[in-house]
Amino acid sequence: MTFASLGLIEPLLRALETLGYHTPTPVQAQAIPAVLAGRDLMAAAQTGTGKTAGFAVPLLQLLTMEGPKVAANSARALILCPTRELAEQVHASVAEYAQHLPLTTYAVYGGVSINPQMMKLRKGVDILVATPGRLIDLFRQNALKLNQLQTLVLDEADRMLDLGFSEELANIYRMLPKKRQTLLFSATFSDDIRLLAGQMLNDPLSIEVSPRNVAANTVKQWVVPVDKKRKPELFVHLMRKGRWKQVLVFAKTRNGVDALVDKLQGLGVNADGIHGDKPQATRQRALDRFKSSDVQILVATDVAARGLDIEDLPLVVNFDLPIVAEDYIHRIGRTGRAGNTGEAISLVCADEVNMLSAIEMLTRQTLTRKTEPDFEPEHRVPETDASGQVVKKPKKPKKPKASGGGGKRNLGKWVDSGDAAPSEPSIKPVRKVPVFNTGPRKKK
Ligand code: AMP
Repeated sequence: MTFASLGLIEPLLRALETLGYHTPTPVQAQAIPAVLAGRDLMAAAQTGTGKTAGFAVPLLQLLTMEGPKVAANSARALILCPTRELAEQVHASVAEYAQHLPLTTYAVYGGVSINPQMMKLRKGVDILVATPGRLIDLFRQNALKLNQLQTLVLDEADRMLDLGFSEELANIYRMLPKKRQTLLFSATFSDDIRLLAGQMLNDPLSIEVSPRNVAANTVKQWVVPVDKKRKPELFVHLMRKGRWKQVLVFAKTRNGVDALVDKLQGLGVNADGIHGDKPQATRQRALDRFKSSDVQILVATDVAARGLDIEDLPLVVNFDLPIVAEDYIHRIGRTGRAGNTGEAISLVCADEVNMLSAIEMLTRQTLTRKTEPDFEPEHRVPETDASGQVVKKPKKPKKPKASGGGGKRNLGKWVDSGDAAPSEPSIKPVRKVPVFNTGPRKKK
């Protein structure tokens, strides 16, 4: 199959050719004709599948071929993204695809001054990429009207809900014209996403390009069990041993990011960190320097790293496992993209066993464990598997209390019928739902 056979116009074909896109990815092959035909879409596609071009390319074609010129303070298409970084990245891709078209594109997000954005919107833009909060601010300040809107794209809709944007999405929903095309993309489909889709979409076509909730199979994944306090030391050891070049590392908290960056910088390693406390400009600079290989190790929280597209990233390290199992899929989606192979290593301590179990259940695989010599944990990480069961170490049965008298007595061979036999491990199921924490500031 070729892009030309999907009915795309010449300026788009030329742009795709320049970018080295020769063959449509599966999501593109399904989404492009459906969007061109005006259908609403509900697409289960994780980052790395080519979903951005899947919605942006046909959208650009529709905007070129149909509809009136954009009016002042208006947008003809709106792409909603969960984070500033993703908004920037999606906008960069859209601008590349649109390079030979007479369309205007722009991205707005919080954390930077609103005034230049208001100025820019005066003339109107064909495609506006936005994070939900800033979009609402612009709308309320009359800098943006949505009555000319033809198409709405919800990109990484699951993440928008995880980040607590459900109220904002409900507000935006009320601002939209009733007649419009809506495209919803999500790596995973929770019940909340299905509810949102039910509200926002009209007879959508469902597209699922990889089995639901299964991580990219081009990524080699394994786990290194370790004691929590030895994680930094193990990281440095593995980094030196594996001669890691460009690594994206995920830590659970902002403090965790800062602590690891400090340690690595203290050892003379070229490392930087991104998290929500850092100003947008600093985050963007760290990201740009990482992309250009000026920074070797980028440590990030899930929120900051969401949707980052770094070409040919060979390795992702989970310094901490994510609290929400689905984030594991998003994290490792940074590597093994567009047909390349990648590696994802997770440093796992005993405290994280339930998270590991939830990830294995979600991805339907038992992750291989490779214990590193000299780093064998004192606090053993219990066995887990894809069934969601955590196998606790067999406990020795208690000896019955000797009645009366102190000192040691030889009680001989005994069996307590109420206890499991010593050779049977006690199996304790963990919660069956993969998300075992509501995550950051989830609003209902
Ligand atoms: P996405 O899933 O949209 O974040 O895209 C992941 C990566 O795949 C990006 O680096 C795209 O530039 C690249 N890509 C998307 N579509 C194609 C294609 N048809 N051929 C080659 N690379 C592609």
